Amino acid sequence: MKYLGIIIVLVLMSCSSDDSQNDPLYNTQSNKLSVGASANDLLSDTTFSSLVVEVVYVEGFEPSQTAISNFVSFLENRTFKPNGITVQKRAISSPGLTPYTNQEIAAIEDSNRLLYNNDNQIAVWAFFADGSSANNTDSGVVLGTAYRNTSFVIYQETIQQLTSGTITNTTPILESTVITHEFGHILGLTNLGTPLQTNHEDLEHPKHCNIESCLMYWKAESGNGVMSMISGGSIPQLDAQCIADLQANGGK
Ligand SMILES: [Zn+2]
Ligand SMILES: [Zn+2]
Repeated sequence: MKYLGIIIVLVLMSCSSDDSQNDPLYNTQSNKLSVGASANDLLSDTTFSSLVVEVVYVEGFEPSQTAISNFVSFLENRTFKPNGITVQKRAISSPGLTPYTNQEIAAIEDSNRLLYNNDNQIAVWAFFADGSSANNTDSGVVLGTAYRNTSFVIYQETIQQLTSGTITNTTPILESTVITHEFGHILGLTNLGTPLQTNHEDLEHPKHCNIESCLMYWKAESGNGVMSMISGGSIPQLDAQCIADLQANGGK
């Protein structure tokens, strides 16, 4: 591949059914809505006072503990969960389907996910794949995708390949960046279920922030954007306008 670009793709995919209200598995269905639909439930403690993240990785593609710790800190800084945020992590064997389509990623979740919302606790599914996205092209590779209201995938093999051979260990920084960018979409950024408080959506790159240094900036999705954004060795942070949006929707 002559040119290695980087894309973090957001796919809006709703798998909710019209009869979910009558479904005995309603709590399962409540985790199968579109991206951004549970932003307030995740940000506030109105309905859910605690949050659990089910981290499932393919053997050999475990995310770094640094990245998981950074993700938990991101959640603690932005959400009200007085009864705590916990992570349950485990490995599965390879589904053997790389490159993965979004439909395959959703099917892997459906086959392996154990934790769904209950009365007081909201559950999040994070899958770390042993391969690449089927949406990769010669001009861009996908590092992660938020595809349901509480679900995202990280293409851990692609992240490891991009950061292998670097003098300083950038893998945890890239992991942390992709995880928090995808979760930013799940929190409704930008204008994706969390209403804008100021006009900072980049209309040329919808559902992204127009502040160049912000975690939700579109360059995190194109060309060498991500690598240049993390070249200083730090993880891009949400800017003040994105934080204001989250605060107005029940967050910190
Ligand atoms: Zn994005
Ligand atoms: Zn922003």
